[in-house]
Amino acid sequence: MNRASLNILPLQSEIIYGPVPSKRLGVSLGINILPTSYKLCSFSCLYCKYDWTSKPTPHLTYQTDDLPRPAEVSSALEMSLHRLVKHRTKLDCITFSGNGEPTLHPDLAEIIAAAKRVRDQYLPEVKLAILSNSSTVGSAEVRAALEMLDLKVMKLDAGSEEMIRRLNNPMPNFYLGEIVAGLRSLTDIILQSLFVQGRVANTDPDSVERWLEKVREIQPRLVQVYSLDRLPTERKLWRVNLPTLQWIASQVRWRAGIPAEVF
Ligand code: SF4
Repeated sequence: MNRASLNILPLQSEIIYGPVPSKRLGVSLGINILPTSYKLCSFSCLYCKYDWTSKPTPHLTYQTDDLPRPAEVSSALEMSLHRLVKHRTKLDCITFSGNGEPTLHPDLAEIIAAAKRVRDQYLPEVKLAILSNSSTVGSAEVRAALEMLDLKVMKLDAGSEEMIRRLNNPMPNFYLGEIVAGLRSLTDIILQSLFVQGRVANTDPDSVERWLEKVREIQPRLVQVYSLDRLPTERKLWRVNLPTLQWIASQVRWRAGIPAEVF
């Protein structure tokens, strides 16, 4: 099997992309505040749709040359929303996501504040969201920026550092305790947790138990439980069946008292 047949997606080539249909967010207009020529991420997940991260970035990046400036992002968003409103295109969310981890952008707060102003001007009812891998929530500055958003969809795939290292390949200075504390101090978050089986599996009772302990500590308002929807970067992983995902969600509901949905 060659790389192309692994269903790896091309990188986003612009700041604004979509709208795209999203199982978890509805009709979503994407904002990519990361480079367009390479993936910039603090993880290199085995299941990433954008192939491996060449070098997981060990913190907030200050190599800003490849990143769009805040004014470029807000003007691209304004042009796009102007067009969507003119064509009466339905939209549920405007989502920071794109070619890696959006919270690595050093001007995150300025960009989110400007995006909020543009959203309020054109489509105030549409939610402003982020899909984040949670790796930077130890930073008070990042948390303050995230609090400006309507939907903070934050990743936590496992409850032990060992499993996160195997599944998500984080940057070397990753500390699960710091991430859990950061997530707990954010308000009203949605936790996104992807489960896989195969060479690495986070669905056995012990792994689920350890993950559930962290979910209880964090107290999100919702947990999204899901699995692969494409062939992953690592070939020896496979999709978890629906009954297993439903069992994991039921553990969250009944044992942690937190709403959970399967996607
Ligand atoms: S956090 Fe997201 S972008 Fe980064 S490697 Fe994992 S799946 Fe890919």
